[in-house]
Amino acid sequence: MDISSILQGGYAHPTSRKWQASRQLTKSMFMYPIFITDDANASTEIATLPGQRRWGINKLEGFLAPLVAKGLESVILFGVPFNCAKDGRGTPADDASGPVILAIKKLRSLFPKLYIACDVCLCEYTDHGHCGLLHGDGTINTPPSVERIAEVAVNYARAGADCVAPSDMMDGRIKAIKRGLMDAGLGNKCTLMSYSAKFASSLYGPFRDAAGSAPSFGDRKCYQLPPSARGLARRAIQRDAAEGADIIMVKPAMPYLDIISDAAQLTPDHPIACYQVSGEFAMVHAGGAAGVYDLKTMAFESVESMVRAGATLILTYFTPEFLDWL
Ligand SMILES: [Zn+2]
Repeated sequence: MDISSILQGGYAHPTSRKWQASRQLTKSMFMYPIFITDDANASTEIATLPGQRRWGINKLEGFLAPLVAKGLESVILFGVPFNCAKDGRGTPADDASGPVILAIKKLRSLFPKLYIACDVCLCEYTDHGHCGLLHGDGTINTPPSVERIAEVAVNYARAGADCVAPSDMMDGRIKAIKRGLMDAGLGNKCTLMSYSAKFASSLYGPFRDAAGSAPSFGDRKCYQLPPSARGLARRAIQRDAAEGADIIMVKPAMPYLDIISDAAQLTPDHPIACYQVSGEFAMVHAGGAAGVYDLKTMAFESVESMVRAGATLILTYFTPEFLDWL
């Protein structure tokens, strides 16, 4: 055999195998998505998301203190209101006594060093379940949607969020939120993480179950990207970077590794986040339960593929497990 044929000597030992990664997984790469509901004492299992619950603010300390002690550095909050009056403009989204704002303040006082991100969207709070305000004919009315989404984001930042993360995919919302943060004197305090390339995926089912956010009619195809749309995703990533996003996100992750790689190449000076969404997480669990693979091995393989593609930050429901495994 030729000398140039021999590679295996370079990765024969478990330690030399680790060195083959261009970047190692660390605990700080993991951001944990948390569902906050408006029953303060809730701890309700979510059947379609193994091991995940909807939490009331009185339960947050008991739930998160052990994870923070293990090295949890960041969370992203999703509001799941059941007892509010939803309307066309998502008024309860930034209600000062609503679950998200109460949770930000509670977590800020319990865990002063924890990085608190907030998902920003209207669909959990609108009576029609869409992510923006609608015209009379049921189509999205973009300018007032963007204005309202920016208002909610600024109110989360005012309450103490370290990061606001708009997931609505409305045109122009990154610029509007950045301007709103600057006008509120928070431009240099609050990170703006954009769900830049969010695809209309089949993998959001368990999340909609968890958040009760399925639209009452129609779908979200007019604002979320078609799965085949690589060019559109690249344009959205570049647009959001130009509009002032601090972190670029791709969602879902595993079926869109090429888009993560594109994001890393198009915006090499930004952190690149990806969201291992509810359906991906449920799928990894289902395969493990069916004996297709070992769950832990597959969980590692899944997040290592994202880091290899270029992700620097991973939003995943596996975060508590990785705090133990790493
Ligand atoms: Zn939404």
